[in-house]
Amino acid sequence: MHHFNYREGVLHCEDVPLREIALEVGTPCYVYSYSTLIRHFRVMDEAFSAIPHLVCFAVKANSNIAVLKALAKEGSGMDVVSGGELFRALRAGVDPERIVFAGVGKTAQEMEYALRVGILMFNVESDQELETLEEVACRLKIKAPVALRVNPDVDPKTHPYISTGLKKSKFGIAIEEIVEEYETAARLPCIQVRGVHCHIGSQITQVAPFVEALGKVLGLVDRLRGLGLDISYVDMGGGLGIQYKDESPPPPAELASAIRPLLEGRGLTLILEPGRVIAGNAGILLTKVLYLKKGRVKRFVVVDAAMNDLARPSLYGAYHAILPVEERAAGAMVADVVGPICESGDFLAQDRELPELKQGDLLAVMSAGAYGFTMSSNYNSRPRVAEVLVSGDRFWVVRERERYEDLVRGERIPRFLLSEQSS
Ligand SMILES: *Cc1c(COP(=O)(O)O)cnc(C)c1O
Repeated sequence: MHHFNYREGVLHCEDVPLREIALEVGTPCYVYSYSTLIRHFRVMDEAFSAIPHLVCFAVKANSNIAVLKALAKEGSGMDVVSGGELFRALRAGVDPERIVFAGVGKTAQEMEYALRVGILMFNVESDQELETLEEVACRLKIKAPVALRVNPDVDPKTHPYISTGLKKSKFGIAIEEIVEEYETAARLPCIQVRGVHCHIGSQITQVAPFVEALGKVLGLVDRLRGLGLDISYVDMGGGLGIQYKDESPPPPAELASAIRPLLEGRGLTLILEPGRVIAGNAGILLTKVLYLKKGRVKRFVVVDAAMNDLARPSLYGAYHAILPVEERAAGAMVADVVGPICESGDFLAQDRELPELKQGDLLAVMSAGAYGFTMSSNYNSRPRVAEVLVSGDRFWVVRERERYEDLVRGERIPRFLLSEQSS
């Protein structure tokens, strides 16, 4: 469900025609629907209302501080994976006690930052990380709240780049070894064991992998409690998929009814870290047709957005629906939609059925609200695009388009290059 619909032949975000945004803000730009965002959050939150739970939005999916603020006002916590994301969450006014911190490479500096602000929990991914956290916490005379991230060896049946819970993955600690690691953690004076964390992957379209993972996690919780450890949180990560094309991922309510019975009466608070399912279909990338080009064997639609703006098609071969802002039936042509970047991998769609297009037409690249702007870069020295938030019939630029000056900010030419050249 989202709020991008045609009205009288013109694609709108909520009550705002997208061409109005293109006219005022320019293209390319990301456009987010506030109503969609918070609807997705509420559906997730309400699905689990019968059990103690905390929904921590995965900031890496969409880290604009207006988006974070909108979710925080709904009561969302945040899942962060870097000091920068923690900074963003705090800047958006998120209560640190609703923030969890994951990632295999947290630095001592990031740990100190998170300890000082008092986050809910570190999701620790290795023995050396645990040792470092212990050192930092002792130095600050603080007890670091932790969950260890277990790698449950569950196949989420998704793209290999976004599978994170298999034996061969860099994430988490093997389930066979983790009890020992917990015993170590429990002995460390500046570590306070609070929970178990796991996150098996992303864009998961079935309930079964979650149930399988939770089963393993709960078995672990029982063993840990048997050893006298105080486990009060089970963090099941994120990963619920969305519809990009013809997938039919389970709605949050279905996930909830599958896993709720396993949790009831256990005195555990469930943490969820959804990213894509909250933000994915709440955003689009608005772009303009620059040129139509006929190659020897293929047709190309050259648009002003590129792989640096939306990396998913190039990176994962991901499918994003592309709709004309002025409604027209697809099928008039088959073409690749490509950007201006000097790479053959720079495409937003390949061999796509499209309506007849002309120069200047506006296109909406759908389902781009998660892992869209956050994965964007300045490759080819392209300024990063503007982000716009729509609510009802109003819209706001929530991130300005970068200017050329932004591209070179922080760069310097060393003096020796400036002095007169002598030969
Ligand atoms: C990426 C990630 C998430 C969010 O994943 P989605 O598929 O966007 O829901 C949650 N938790 C962790 C630890 C992650 O790395």
